[in-house]
Amino acid sequence: MPGQWNIMVYVIFVAGRGLPVRIGVDIDGVLADSLSLWINELNSYFKKDKRVEQIRLLDICETYEVTPLELSVFLARKGRYLMTRPMPITGASQYLGMIKKQHDIYIVTARDERYKQETVDWLNKHNLPYDELILLGSHEKKEACLSRNLSVLVEDTLEIGVKVSSAGVPVLLLDAPYNQGALPDLVYRAYSWFDVYRTIMIEPHLLNPSHTAGPRI
Ligand SMILES: [Mg+2]
Repeated sequence: MPGQWNIMVYVIFVAGRGLPVRIGVDIDGVLADSLSLWINELNSYFKKDKRVEQIRLLDICETYEVTPLELSVFLARKGRYLMTRPMPITGASQYLGMIKKQHDIYIVTARDERYKQETVDWLNKHNLPYDELILLGSHEKKEACLSRNLSVLVEDTLEIGVKVSSAGVPVLLLDAPYNQGALPDLVYRAYSWFDVYRTIMIEPHLLNPSHTAGPRI
């Protein structure tokens, strides 16, 4: 029967490849090599000499000893430049493209909605494919991960990883000088985009999916 045959082919195909699942991906520090650009501009603007390992992106005001108003003036002047000029992280385009062939990509960024066009243009320019772009305007990513039923978030900010993983969503933390330290359950360090690809596509069991909120990878 042709119908039964089609179903058998489909079952074999799915069993061999795994069902598509939803992969969350951050932009700055994960797809975009933004940090050096941010530090150069912040150091120059606020006349400081901070190094990458001293930066806490969640609290730039504290790091640079400036007020929120001073930071917002800086962003008004430099924001669009900072959103459009970074180069992609090594391997991001290649491996994200390979993951996208099988899974759905949800880009979850703290960037504000007002930078949507610059962000879309930057993603397109660097061949970074996705299904949905979520601009939160805050570092609170837990709800976005849960509401989209994401199976994993690729992130570089440890504090975000801790919060998201506490909701049962595994996190692949892309290694950086500013995210060193012990990792809680469901947060796993990745040292490159190849590492991210290998974990998601070849060794997804390492993400301990039995505890996840989303479907199994
Ligand atoms: Mg980031």
